[in-house]
Amino acid sequence: MAKNEIPYKIYLSENEMPAQWYNVRADMKVKPAPLLNPGTHQPMTAEELGGVFCEELVKQEMDNDNRFIAIPQEILDFYKMYRPSPLVRAYCLEKKLGTPAKIYYKFEGNNTSGSHKLNSAIAQAYYAKNQGLKGVTTETGAGQWGTALSMACAYLGLDCKVYMVKVSYEQKPFRREVMRTYGASVTPSPSDTTNVGRKILAEFPGTTGSLGCAISEAVEVAVSTPGYRYVLGSVLNQVLLHQSVIGLEAKIAMDKYGIKPDVIIGCAGGGSNLGGLIAPFMGEKLRGEADYRIIAVEPASCPSFTRGKFAYDFCDTGMVCPLAKMYTLGSGFIPAPNHAGGLRYHGMSPVLSQLYHDGYMEARAVEQTKVFQAAEEFARCEGILPAPESSHAIRAAMDEALKCKETGEAKTILFGLTGTGYFDMVAYEKFHDGKMTDYIPTDADLEKGFAGLPKVD
Ligand SMILES: *Cc1c(COP(=O)(O)O)cnc(C)c1O
Repeated sequence: MAKNEIPYKIYLSENEMPAQWYNVRADMKVKPAPLLNPGTHQPMTAEELGGVFCEELVKQEMDNDNRFIAIPQEILDFYKMYRPSPLVRAYCLEKKLGTPAKIYYKFEGNNTSGSHKLNSAIAQAYYAKNQGLKGVTTETGAGQWGTALSMACAYLGLDCKVYMVKVSYEQKPFRREVMRTYGASVTPSPSDTTNVGRKILAEFPGTTGSLGCAISEAVEVAVSTPGYRYVLGSVLNQVLLHQSVIGLEAKIAMDKYGIKPDVIIGCAGGGSNLGGLIAPFMGEKLRGEADYRIIAVEPASCPSFTRGKFAYDFCDTGMVCPLAKMYTLGSGFIPAPNHAGGLRYHGMSPVLSQLYHDGYMEARAVEQTKVFQAAEEFARCEGILPAPESSHAIRAAMDEALKCKETGEAKTILFGLTGTGYFDMVAYEKFHDGKMTDYIPTDADLEKGFAGLPKVD
């Protein structure tokens, strides 16, 4: 290859992998608001958080000052099994769209969990193990997080209890069995194994569950079982920190070949992949060293950024978790049952919420039939079957590339391809059979969610 020629697929070498995570909070002038105690509305202390989370993770959660945090060697060794992840130029897609834009994607689906979630799962499991804990509890919606955590726990010899949103537990039996293969116990939520689960079942018999409800159950089990802590796959500051490995690798690779993205796009559920992908680029933007357009893409049926309120809210339906200040639809919000595209959490990362609030990034909502159209088009030319979640970013990247076709601008677009969709074939089937519909919540629907926001002065 000629010097400086850009390869189709960039895999950096192991020693070009970052040895530190980047903490974007260190460069934020306005820091994300602290978590509040749901009873007293006072900022949570490290001691209080330590009842729920591992000690080292509490430190990371509260650290607004250290720009870099060393990645422990054991985690680096694990990362080496599937990282650096490829950064791919989507030549075929560009050609198909007839766009002058250059499209790159960072692909995180090259591991059994099929998503970026493993990056934080191994970190959280490592710190739990290091603290001498016996196990961890968590929730999972679509199942990628539960799978990632099961893999990490199996590797380190930790017990793993997963509360899986009931509708997914029933619709995705294979996902459940992958988790059990890795030794996790999987319980459909709401369940009768917890107080909060029994309460929700009594109030809403026949409910198919929600992430917020599964979180409440997992937290209850963690705080009431000695030697256990709770871990969460998105939203939290610590998770964005771990996911910064995505953006750091992308930046190292792009710098190496002299590529500068004009637009950076990611799907946003709780905000972890997007927060990770944009981290070092956002850092430059915050320090005034460079400028990038950054776009968060969310489902029109769960529009936390584009139609939510920036307010303190419960992270869970059971209202047992700390309050976080974030863009939220209210902890009681549950997307319409026909929503199949993932990204169904009611809130959003406090870090991204603050950055969005301060004008450092944009957000847009897309309808699921358009998302699956993009997924199919991408699958047919790029050879990867994308997760529905990731396909929100594909949709926006394609739309940006099509705009370039109109204006003739040869912009460089980078998007996060967070994972593969092999366990989402029921949703693909609906789409292929023409049975997928779009439901956009009305203002009245959203008002019901907002009515449940806690009053915090
Ligand atoms: C969980 C998940 C997401 C959304 O979560 P974020 O925290 O917003 O990144 C996106 N894509 C895939 C494949 C996922 O598994």
